[in-house]
Amino acid sequence: MGDTRLQRERMVQRQIAARGVRDHYTLEAMRQVPREEFVAKPLREFAYEDSPLPIEAGQTISQPYIVALMIAEARIRPGERVLEIGAGSGYAAAVMATIAQRVYAIERVPELAALARERFERLGYDNIELRTGDGTRGWPEAAPFDAIVAAAGGPEIPDVLLRQLAPGGRLVMPVGTMRDQQRLVLVTRTGNERFVQKALGDVRFVPLIGEHGWRDDAPVTMAEPTRTHLRSRDVGRSMAGLIREAAEPLPAFDDPAFGKRFDRFADARVVLLGEASHGTSEFYRARDAITRRLVQAHGFKIIAVEADWPDAASIDRHVRSVPGVRDGEPAFQRFPTWMWRNTDVDRFVRWLRQHNHLLADSRRAGFYGLDLYSMNASMRAVIDYLDGVDPEAAHVARTRYGCLTPWSKEPAQYGHMAVTAGYAVCEDAVADMLRMLLLRRMEYTKNDGGRFFDAEQNARVVRDAEAYYRAIYYGSAESWNLRDTHMFQTLQHLLDAGGADSRAVVWAHNSHIGDARHTGMGQQRDELNIGQLCREQFGDQAALIGFGTDSGTVAAASNWDEPMQVMQVNPSMAGSYERLFHEAAVPRCLVDVRAGQHPELRERLSETQLERFIGVIYRPHTERWSHYTEAELPGQFDAYVWFDKTSAVTPLTKEHGSGVPETWPFAL
Ligand code: SAH
Repeated sequence: MGDTRLQRERMVQRQIAARGVRDHYTLEAMRQVPREEFVAKPLREFAYEDSPLPIEAGQTISQPYIVALMIAEARIRPGERVLEIGAGSGYAAAVMATIAQRVYAIERVPELAALARERFERLGYDNIELRTGDGTRGWPEAAPFDAIVAAAGGPEIPDVLLRQLAPGGRLVMPVGTMRDQQRLVLVTRTGNERFVQKALGDVRFVPLIGEHGWRDDAPVTMAEPTRTHLRSRDVGRSMAGLIREAAEPLPAFDDPAFGKRFDRFADARVVLLGEASHGTSEFYRARDAITRRLVQAHGFKIIAVEADWPDAASIDRHVRSVPGVRDGEPAFQRFPTWMWRNTDVDRFVRWLRQHNHLLADSRRAGFYGLDLYSMNASMRAVIDYLDGVDPEAAHVARTRYGCLTPWSKEPAQYGHMAVTAGYAVCEDAVADMLRMLLLRRMEYTKNDGGRFFDAEQNARVVRDAEAYYRAIYYGSAESWNLRDTHMFQTLQHLLDAGGADSRAVVWAHNSHIGDARHTGMGQQRDELNIGQLCREQFGDQAALIGFGTDSGTVAAASNWDEPMQVMQVNPSMAGSYERLFHEAAVPRCLVDVRAGQHPELRERLSETQLERFIGVIYRPHTERWSHYTEAELPGQFDAYVWFDKTSAVTPLTKEHGSGVPETWPFAL
């Protein structure tokens, strides 16, 4: 058939190159593979038509342009290993095998697989391995692949397939919520847990049927071959429409359905719940509802929050009914007191105590602080502990920590002094103290009433705080990174102490839990955070959930150490994620932005926007510069929780019960 070469050349020029496919390898391979050999005899004269054609079992051989587009977008190169799902006639596999080193192809229908295998043999494609089965599970034994191409459309991109991509690997697949209408999607694995997604246009493929595809096997009518087409890329839907489509409305906080919405994250080792300010009631209430669910239904036993260890420890003793070991000072006296001494936290703490009350010790959930602003209280806690178990060591501790006591009220001045002195004056003393404690663990834990871990963590706080206060004088990234690393390590110690199946919920600001690599923090200021470190450590076993709002009120101060005020939050700025969500007009919702979910929305949200961060200080007049940073939301979070209108937290006052606030939580 001498003229098929000419037919192929024409096909490449008119149908493929003319539509913008430029990839040299693809075009060259399309010039070589005899397409007519992959269709039934009566259809051979149509083999080079600009359309898909029917093959056996009600399936189709894809239109030449689509085969070329997928292979070009998957950027298949010599030497690579490729997986094809839905080998059908075997044609696309043959084109890919012309470029790549090895092609692994899976076909669900045995009859088609047999025909394709016979063709590969006859035409000499000896670098294709074909098997019959469900391709939605991939081919784990042959993974990782440099490229994965799916020739049938599923409701979402199966996670198992993404995991089988090599670093830098590309996956091309038709994805759509309707069986016969999809959007072609390209996913590139840019890091261990990083995937970048791009929508390529609308397509029509036969359905992908299997465990991670469509479940039912309803017959697909294929009387006429469906014309596969691509719409121009700019026929996009509105952003507001895409958000509305993806938004899962959230019920009332005390409706159990609220927490259930987050069950998809219940398999994670750590669930990190953010907040877009330190003084918004809705964020606390939502975290309360989600945490209750994770604790009650999914066995999470560690609640670790952005608070100081000794403060949280007094809550912990209360919720786990551990007898108080010292009357000490009341918890959460340090600015900003409203962050933890508020009615929402109070409600959660009451619930947690009640929940634990009915349970055996080992099943109780604990409440822990990740932060390091408690140098003074932590030194005292270590000394108190040693007074009880080893008075001689307590004496040593007093001497060593004595190095820091002149600055215990104003630890930042220690940093100043150390920098002026030119060396880390107390570094060795605090490191020695921790070392000594750890060396005597066995001895102390014999009869210390289970208090060693608390003492150890306090000794860690002192060591890290010493370094933190020095670092403040070297620039912000360094001290920020020390603090977030300390928080992450504390979380890690909690998980280790809880055993192999321990799982944690973290409550901290979005700036700590949203992966810093996807915000100005990481990209411009070299800052890392807990979210990033968790992803690096736990991969997709870390769920990062961000929170946002448009406007309302917030509890905050104008300056550090100034009184709390209830302030109006400005409506969100144009060019921000908050504005996009506000325009979608969904009052409260969850949007799942993990890889494979809502591909078009994810892609559009991946374009950098501003994002608002309100901490304990809010300065509405300089809001743009004080509070907005650039971010890429779908990289930063796995999900985003939106409350369009929000209100300030209510600080605990005398009206909230006798003795409150001074002795909270003990006077409950
Ligand atoms: N690449 C093929 C296209 C065939 S059509 C070609 O150009 O000839 C898609 C094929 O996917 C069909 O043959 C269908 O049987 C197959 N398929 C559907 N679901 C599948 C699954 N879960 N695993 C493997 N193949 C599947």
